Amino acid sequence: MAIIGIDLGTTNSLAVCWKNDKPVLIRNSFNETSTPSVVGYDKENETYVVGAVANERLITHPNDTISEFKRCMGQNMEFMLNNRKETSVSLSSYVLKKIKEDAEAFLGEEVDEAIISVPAYFNDKARSDTKLAAELAGLRVDRLINEPSAAALSYLYSNGFEDQTLLIIDFGGGTLDVSLVETFDNIIEILAVAGNNELGGKDFNEVIAEYFCKQSGLVMDALRLQDKALIYKIAEKAKIHLSKSMSTIMTATIEGKDYSVSIDNNKLIKLCSNIFSKIKAPIDKVLRDARTTIDDIDDIVLVGGSSKMPTVRAFIKEVTGKAPNTNVNPDTAIALGAGIFAEIKNRNMDLKDIIMTDICPFSLGVATCDSMTGDIITEFIINRNSSLPCTRQKTFYTMSPMQESIRIQIYQGESIVVSKNLCLGELMIDLAHPTKEKQMITIKMSYDINGILIVDVEDKDGHIGDKVFMSKDTDLSPEEINKMRERIKAASILGREEEKNALLIARAERVFEESLEQERQIILAFLMQFKASLTSNSLKAINEAYTKLKDLLDNIEGRN
Ligand code: ADP
Ligand code: MG
Repeated sequence: MAIIGIDLGTTNSLAVCWKNDKPVLIRNSFNETSTPSVVGYDKENETYVVGAVANERLITHPNDTISEFKRCMGQNMEFMLNNRKETSVSLSSYVLKKIKEDAEAFLGEEVDEAIISVPAYFNDKARSDTKLAAELAGLRVDRLINEPSAAALSYLYSNGFEDQTLLIIDFGGGTLDVSLVETFDNIIEILAVAGNNELGGKDFNEVIAEYFCKQSGLVMDALRLQDKALIYKIAEKAKIHLSKSMSTIMTATIEGKDYSVSIDNNKLIKLCSNIFSKIKAPIDKVLRDARTTIDDIDDIVLVGGSSKMPTVRAFIKEVTGKAPNTNVNPDTAIALGAGIFAEIKNRNMDLKDIIMTDICPFSLGVATCDSMTGDIITEFIINRNSSLPCTRQKTFYTMSPMQESIRIQIYQGESIVVSKNLCLGELMIDLAHPTKEKQMITIKMSYDINGILIVDVEDKDGHIGDKVFMSKDTDLSPEEINKMRERIKAASILGREEEKNALLIARAERVFEESLEQERQIILAFLMQFKASLTSNSLKAINEAYTKLKDLLDNIEGRN
């Protein structure tokens, strides 16, 4: 039985195993290390499709394909797929099931355990949802690792364990995480984290897509879903192109009409000034929280696909005054870190001395009544960025004389406004001796590395109550979880052997939609030939038809 590390990304997911004394990226059935975090349902074949095939169907089957569900992790948002309600938990579970299957094929043995990386900003609910998704996919997950910690671990593994202070900036498809990591001896200590889980590469795509529409006289909201998806796709392609060259031209055929818009990096900087300004805030916050300055940083490590943008790298260099490190692969660093951590957990002899400390990425407190205004506000007991495990206490007073009980509501978050924070639950305590004077109560909170919070309450005579709040808490009942488990287990997911052909069909359908009349006829003819060959049982016929269709598509898309 093997244990693997998984970077379960908003856009892409990767997995790493330990082989021949080093972390190795697991390859999927397309021999690729990255699997798009996209899930779809293929009505024609009555199967779920996950990864590259689903990603290819985003444009042609927008109603049967879901992406970026990680953005909703920890929230109770529902998605419809195959006339069924799905959540970010069940959708992540399909992705994890696929990763497990690919890992098992790659390793030739069963994989039953994983370490999964999550954004530092994930709250307890999002963390427990991630663990639940894994469990439903048949993977035991005892520990999660913060994505920036994983990146730091990966950096240290390849650059050597020297004492230093690193600023890790992870800019992916949907989230931005900034963290300050200090390493000394064999200890990796996170000093502070900040971030924005509503900011990522997708935001650039949106701005570029809007620009394309504006320049073309199109109104985004008035377009068909397919056309919208097509414009987002060419916007993303242009963005990636701009990482290699100064300018590019976007072209698309919308309802039979050809449009073409050019864009360069200077224009991109102007259009995206709002995004750039949002990158700076968490950098400042991390330095402020850790009471340090950029001068004390030894190296800036950029990870995540969006950090490959030269405009982003230049912006970060400009605001920090330091050139970011270029040795770390932004695409794989987090997965490698998760894989290394999985091996640490597995007690590999060479790595056993590495100690990782973690911090609480959010504040924990209770609802109190402000004595001056009477407003209900949050009183923080454990502040964000405290090293874990951590214990803090604070003293409070009962509200009225002869009060018989107290109700302690526990919140996680940064807002003074109670309702803006996440309620973890409450604790009711009867006071044994109501007194005429207001009583003094001490609330002690202990929060550990596994997300377990113990709240202990004392009055002047000693202990009067306690309660454990587990991050495992979920809104779902055991019956609901069981139902989900059965459904995910029973779901027919397109197998590894069929994926290659399915991807080509999905691609042909997409290129068909993007093409004009003459090209359409030939794509359709080759596609039909390929589909017919699949029923022929002749490997030779299938291979020939496959190559013919693939060459045609490569030609049209300029891939050869
Ligand atoms: P996540 O962590 O959200 O899964 P990734 O780190 O894989 O995301 O990054 C995905 C994002 O990176 C996407 O928005 C993608 O468009 C963007 N991206 C990938 N490669 C490049 C590139 N060469 N230039 C610019 N953006 C890129
Ligand atoms: Mg990522």
